[in-house]
Amino acid sequence: MATAEKVIKPDFGTRKRHFIFTEEHDRLRESIGSFVERELAPHAEEWERETFPNWVFKRMGELGFLGLSYPEEYGGQGGDYYCNIVLAEEMTKANCGGLAMGIAVHTDMATPPIHLFGTEEQKQRYLVPAIKGEKISCLGITEPDAGSDVAGIRTRAVRDGDEYVINGSKTFITNGHRADFIVLVTKTDPDAGYDGFTLFLVDLNTPGVVREKKLEKLGMHASDTALLSFQDVRVPAENVLGEVGKGFYHIMWELQGERLIGAAGCVAGAQRVFDRTLQYALERKAFGREIGHFQVIRHKFAEMATKIESARQMVYATAWRFQNGEYPVREISMAKLHASRVAVEVADECIQIHGGAGYMKEYGVERVWRDMRLNRIGAGTDEIMLEVIGRSYGL
Ligand SMILES: Cc1cc2nc3c(=O)[nH]c(=O)nc-3n(C[C@H](O)[C@H](O)[C@H](O)COP(=O)(O)OP(=O)(O)OC[C@H]3O[C@@H](n4cnc5c(N)ncnc54)[C@H](O)[C@@H]3O)c2cc1C
Repeated sequence: MATAEKVIKPDFGTRKRHFIFTEEHDRLRESIGSFVERELAPHAEEWERETFPNWVFKRMGELGFLGLSYPEEYGGQGGDYYCNIVLAEEMTKANCGGLAMGIAVHTDMATPPIHLFGTEEQKQRYLVPAIKGEKISCLGITEPDAGSDVAGIRTRAVRDGDEYVINGSKTFITNGHRADFIVLVTKTDPDAGYDGFTLFLVDLNTPGVVREKKLEKLGMHASDTALLSFQDVRVPAENVLGEVGKGFYHIMWELQGERLIGAAGCVAGAQRVFDRTLQYALERKAFGREIGHFQVIRHKFAEMATKIESARQMVYATAWRFQNGEYPVREISMAKLHASRVAVEVADECIQIHGGAGYMKEYGVERVWRDMRLNRIGAGTDEIMLEVIGRSYGL
């Protein structure tokens, strides 16, 4: 029976598990979280300077974290999509956005198309070693002259007997310097519109692949970002990934998972910087009291918490639909748009609450802002998300 005491006492302190997660996800969270805190987070500063080392892939492969939702027959853990959400969330504990991004590109961007569209032989050759962390992957969509406008890419693959000859360039490619292979978006028939694109699996040590300079960035310093060029690169026809001519549709599918995982990382990152800043606001004093007790600051926290919670609910509800076989492109775009904006707003407000300390590298809050800022651009800009959402209403 509900007693008066129970009814009137709000349980602010309880952290109830969201309904999409089970006890098994809790255990996974615990094991990824403690690994990240013990083995990755201590290196965050060093990796900000020199990018994170390749052994991270090997180690995460050994622990089974690179194939959480892939079938056991390929070395995966056979889990559901929510396991990938847990990974994205727990990786934020490394305090190293570039590291989280490098891993997410491998687990949730470059390898899912191999699992869904790849032949058995391709899965054995690329997916199995990728899950073990023995081969590192990257994804090549963006080019110097085409990013948002994916259909405007110019990288050409021309059939020549049993091979294709590839020419073109890709830019801003995460993991591009360290990767063993790339999932490459090309045009095979420039006159066929959306039916003229084809994906390829290209080994990056193939003659004609040039890894140009490492690109310098505002944030995400622990990740490597490459400009790649392909000069008469010969690839066997069996390296076509999926159907010839269907690459545009394949990559649009890939982008949905990429966006949802990105959104989950944004929510978790925002929550982390919120928590740290809350602690700061309860300790830092001005005018004789803790700054968190000024109404203005209290309201900043209230605003931030409300925004984070709204983004979290969008991500989880959309993940539930995705896991249950729907293809909720509109909601994924909304979740990506909202979560990345929230993360940037929260990081910005946390800098403000830290005052001068927020501007100092020592406190790591400015880094969260610099890292998070990418999310409003990468995997489809805010403006492109608004286009997808707007057009979904027939406009
Ligand atoms: C650090 C980093 C890592 C990345 N990693 C990868 C990766 O691993 N693989 C990969 O393929 N790509 C990667 N990208 C590329 C990223 O996805 C693109 O930068 C992004 O899609 C935007 O493309 P763009 O840079 O060419 O901008 P543009 O397309 O040139 O856009 C410029 C501006 O115009 C706006 N705009 C464009 N079209 C429209 C429109 N129709 N309506 C309204 N506004 C519009 C955009 O929103 C933006 O504000 C990465 C980018 C960065 C910065």
